[in-house]
Amino acid sequence: MAESRPEYPTPGDVGQILISSEAIQARVGELGRQITDDLVGEVPLLVGILKGSALFTADLMRSIRGPVEIDFMAVSSYGDATRSSGVVRIVKDLDAPVAGRHVILVEDIVDSGLTMTYLLEHLSGQGPASVRSCALLVRETGDAPPPAVDYVGFEIPPAFVIGYGLDVAQRYRNLPYIAVYTGPT
Ligand code: 5GP
Repeated sequence: MAESRPEYPTPGDVGQILISSEAIQARVGELGRQITDDLVGEVPLLVGILKGSALFTADLMRSIRGPVEIDFMAVSSYGDATRSSGVVRIVKDLDAPVAGRHVILVEDIVDSGLTMTYLLEHLSGQGPASVRSCALLVRETGDAPPPAVDYVGFEIPPAFVIGYGLDVAQRYRNLPYIAVYTGPT
């Protein structure tokens, strides 16, 4: 006999939906068109940062009209579960060199910006033709302004969010929307 499927998401863990699935898809389409226009005649290399930006990177790639390549890096940030420390360790590096390539770094969310700043410097040191930055979300912190991001999906208020690739303890990445996490921390 089939087991009944446990309720998902866990009640109490998912708060307000900040960005609907439809709004995400529409905005990703716009970003793809913008990147297509900005890099006419070039073959951009999207560098997605695992695991959070996996879904965004895949959708962004589909929304670019013309040749485009994809690669991934994985980093681990020394911090607690909900705050990055800015000290980044590269767990998986790129498969191919980026020298001479037009690179677009694709992040899920920019909070302090430390992760993105570190990775932009890391990539810039490898002789690419250009490096651009793209983030689905940028959090308004009210503190120091985050680093200039070339392509921003949405600015969000200071709340910890889940969904569309973003997790808590590896869960909730498959929610199709971005929601405030209201579960235990
Ligand atoms: P930053 O270095 O900009 O302070 O932090 C960026 C990284 O912290 C993101 O790539 C992500 O892994 C994590 N992060 C920051 N804010 C959130 C959030 O609201 N939800 C989740 N799931 N991860 C976050």
